[in-house]
Amino acid sequence: MNPKKDFINDEFSFLKKIQKHFNKKINDKSITVQNGDDCFCFKSGKANICITKDILIEDSHFKKDWILPEQLGEKAIEVNISDIAAMGSIIPKFVFIGLGFPPGLSQKYLNDLYKGFEKACDRYQVILAGGDTVKSDKITVSITVIGKTQEKIILRSGAQIGDLIGVTNTLGDAGAGLDLLYNYGAEYKYNKEEKYLISRHNGPKARLKEASKIARYLTSMTDSSDGLYISLNLIMEASNKGANIDCEKIPVSEEIIKTIKSKDKIIDYALFGGEDYELVFTVPKNKASLLQKICPQVSYIGEVKSSKKVKYFYNGKEKKFKYKGYKHF
Ligand code: ADP
Ligand code: MG
Repeated sequence: MNPKKDFINDEFSFLKKIQKHFNKKINDKSITVQNGDDCFCFKSGKANICITKDILIEDSHFKKDWILPEQLGEKAIEVNISDIAAMGSIIPKFVFIGLGFPPGLSQKYLNDLYKGFEKACDRYQVILAGGDTVKSDKITVSITVIGKTQEKIILRSGAQIGDLIGVTNTLGDAGAGLDLLYNYGAEYKYNKEEKYLISRHNGPKARLKEASKIARYLTSMTDSSDGLYISLNLIMEASNKGANIDCEKIPVSEEIIKTIKSKDKIIDYALFGGEDYELVFTVPKNKASLLQKICPQVSYIGEVKSSKKVKYFYNGKEKKFKYKGYKHF
């Protein structure tokens, strides 16, 4: 049994119930995006305010020995900014940090954690506006980011039949990096490629710049926090569409090719690995090449269909996948 897989399935059906129940009660005209997308949004004057929250918990999302506190601080901010990016051209403005830690945690660890928060906040010019601090057995970092925009917001639900499906960069690196840590620990003498894969797991970068460049052309978008397979399902389900994905078009890094010898295993990482935090989006075909000029890292991996199913092909031949989840600590 894969605990992560069961948790993800349970989590999604639990969240759907919660969202249905509470969204039904909403009677507030200022709300532009209800609970269920990467951010919640509401109108304030001409602007939309976008809000997101993500939590990282020790031994569930990270191991203290596998990531430096400074990296953890940065990562916690980045994964939240990634949800801001997933809504389009949004300017992140304010960050709130909820922090739980055991009394024995060293002052140096906390200082380094805050160095990481600061580094990422400075990168996006966001203000650390507040938070809360509690005692807890496990280190817990719960971040809320608030952003603002006057541009069009990109939902998960806007994919149209015939649109191309794009991603902002290579997939699978973070999952492969996590497996290296899982198999060999942090002290192992890794080569250059392996170090790169681990850095993609410990140091993801939100695609905020890319999002602001491409947003105006897109019909739908999310970020690949739980892996490409989940992102595609989320977009297609929200849009009530299906997709054909050409697995050989999924971009993968030189580093993963050098490290992981099996092609099938690489595709598994790309689909199920999780935590790459790339953007997954749909764009009308006639805008696809323009978009690639604006953002050359973009690759197209398939097309939106009416079928309501996400089908996978490898060199034209259909390939069936079962959701494999990703490694649980
Ligand atoms: P993401 O991976 O983009 O951060 P999640 O899968 O965490 O998104 O959440 C999906 C949606 O469910 C989001 O709109 C989020 O705000 C909402 N959500 C997540 N957890 C809860 C919760 N405990 N109560 C209410 N809504 C939640
Ligand atoms: Mg998201």
